[in-house]
Amino acid sequence: MIDLFATQITYLKGVGPKKAELLQNELGIATYEDLLTHYPFRYVDKSQVFDIRDVASDQAYVQIRATVTSVEASGEKRMRFVVVTVKDATGTIDLVFFKGLRWVVNHFTPGKSFYIFGKPSVFRNKFNFVHPEVEDDDGKVVAITGPRLEGIYSTTEKLKNVGLGSRGLGFLIKELLNKGVNQIEETLPEYLISRYQLMNRRPAMINIHFPEDSDKISPATYRLKFEELLFIQLDMLLQKKAHRRKMTGHVFTKVGPLFLEFYEKYLPFELTGAQKRVIREIRMDLKSGTQMNRLLQGDVGSGKTLVALMIFLLAIDNGFQTCLMAPTEILANQHFNSISSFLKDMDIEIALLTGNTKKAQRTHIHKRLLDGSMNLLIGTHAVIEDVVQFKNLGFVVIDEQHRFGVEQRAKMWKKSELLPHVLVMTATPIPRTLAMTLYGNLDVSVIDELPPGRKPVKTVHYFESKRLRVMGFMKEQIKLGRQVYVVYPLINESENLDLKNLMDGFANIQQDFPLPQYQVSVVHGRMKADEKEYEMKRFVEGKTDILVSTTVIEVGVDVSNATVMIIENAERFGLSQLHQLRGRVGRGGDQSYCILMSGNKLSAEGRKRLEIMVSSNDGFEIAEADLKLRGPGDMQGTQQSGVFELRIANLAQDGELIMLTRKVAETIIEKDEQLANPENGLLRHQLLKIRKQKRNWSRIS
Ligand code: ADP
Ligand code: MG
Repeated sequence: MIDLFATQITYLKGVGPKKAELLQNELGIATYEDLLTHYPFRYVDKSQVFDIRDVASDQAYVQIRATVTSVEASGEKRMRFVVVTVKDATGTIDLVFFKGLRWVVNHFTPGKSFYIFGKPSVFRNKFNFVHPEVEDDDGKVVAITGPRLEGIYSTTEKLKNVGLGSRGLGFLIKELLNKGVNQIEETLPEYLISRYQLMNRRPAMINIHFPEDSDKISPATYRLKFEELLFIQLDMLLQKKAHRRKMTGHVFTKVGPLFLEFYEKYLPFELTGAQKRVIREIRMDLKSGTQMNRLLQGDVGSGKTLVALMIFLLAIDNGFQTCLMAPTEILANQHFNSISSFLKDMDIEIALLTGNTKKAQRTHIHKRLLDGSMNLLIGTHAVIEDVVQFKNLGFVVIDEQHRFGVEQRAKMWKKSELLPHVLVMTATPIPRTLAMTLYGNLDVSVIDELPPGRKPVKTVHYFESKRLRVMGFMKEQIKLGRQVYVVYPLINESENLDLKNLMDGFANIQQDFPLPQYQVSVVHGRMKADEKEYEMKRFVEGKTDILVSTTVIEVGVDVSNATVMIIENAERFGLSQLHQLRGRVGRGGDQSYCILMSGNKLSAEGRKRLEIMVSSNDGFEIAEADLKLRGPGDMQGTQQSGVFELRIANLAQDGELIMLTRKVAETIIEKDEQLANPENGLLRHQLLKIRKQKRNWSRIS
């Protein structure tokens, strides 16, 4: 049977080639199916017309019917905003406009009546409407003949200009449903529908767009979310299974002399329980005959690098070469230094390869890699250039995965006949439900325990007025021999302005912390790599007391003597970034401090972020909060994955349903991996369809 919903959108009545192109470009709507699954993001009740006197809450959307009494433009040379005052029999209220002011002034002439629909806000103890929807009251009673609950669809300026605002889209969907409602097919088997008491797909589609009444919206939404998430989980789990079957990997059979020598002689401390567990998990993978594809999550300082190091030894023991790839020069250097010093008394050949490696050294490294004598290569992107060839690469660690794109990883893989085992390490904690969806096709290990003896960083939030006190505190700490970071945000509005911010701060600090008593270094994005390197090095070696920088130090930099992290304009940073920055201190045995400086004006969200930072030291807790505050689209590492083509489910809010559908998918696959059982016929059919439709976003590694 032909699938009506696969039809190109241009064939729908009311959509010509031009609109079709815009729908595609602006909203990704190419087919009937895409339109059908463009769901409203909220509903408005236009069945009621309120009296102005009853407009009493700034929570809900309300509709009023009123007549213009005056129009006042404000601002001197240029109009800045316009206030339109309207009245009905019960009172008056203001409409405030900041945009389209010409239109506003021309459209709202005193004496004319309108339906006004919006969310009241409070200003100077009075309610008003800012940019409400307005509809001319030309005698017909719009509000009552319209649908009771109207879906509001996301749209764009360009679409609005061709009549496809929210309403216009609604009309198209109505047209589509008139035409094809009987061809909306069920996608879930009966046994799931009844077990989870789901609404059938057809009524769910009707009610999500045109609710018969308000209590139909929630079961319709639930049903459609369930469907969307279930198929994602099925897809991920099946991919994982397929990977297990197909991807033959090197088998590391033995725990050899290097691993044991290091463990017994050179490991300066006990491994934490979590480190031991993760090493066990990885070892199981390495023995299994399947290529490992594992994500290792752990908060900053939880000891991920050490785990990687032990697995390097294991791989080398089994006759393989290994590689560690880091996102920046500084990090690669640091990994090289710390790993080299851990392994200094052992017979292992390690090299550092970055963009700065000299020609002669480069040639030497290439040769040693090819003949197999180089055991461990540490570097930046430079390690995946084509000229870099290994004799037998068996294990690769990628640090901070979100900085690398998919192609880069694929390139890495081609370096040996069999794919090497891959461990991706990230210090950006990903909430469990998000990880399940984003990385549902990977294996995930978590280090959820910090090495013993770490004192939690004390975090405070100060407004500008406390700056003197902060300076006094810095002096105290420096007197004790400690070092201090001062970080400025990259605001991106203007690079020059950002730089100026930083340089002003630097100048102030130089004044308040004069030579020769105090040494201050500065690092920012405009400096040449070797200058940066030089300044960083002075700080790392303890030659300077204060490091003023932009966020270049965000990831990985390790100076255990640094105990104070001052973050300027902290309200401008995202939560996970703040947490990363805080992770730069508290790395030694001394009590450390994180001071969040902010201006006096804070948005509600900015304030909330700072509160969370002050109250929690737990990366996972912070990541959860971040997800709730910002939604998943902004989370680090998620932008490229495409999973946010989610139509209706919300990774931040639907945690429970994600867990549930994961379980359901697991149970189904456990019993019927091929989905060959007749009762799973619909699932199989739909899954194939989805796989054919989507670009293959879920293959993120
Ligand atoms: P991550 O890479 O997760 O940020 P690292 O591996 O760099 O963490 O470890 C942070 C610091 O803690 C390093 O100085 C490391 O030597 C030390 N460390 C790692 N594991 C332990 C442990 N089990 N006990 C004590 N210190 C540890
Ligand atoms: Mg690290």
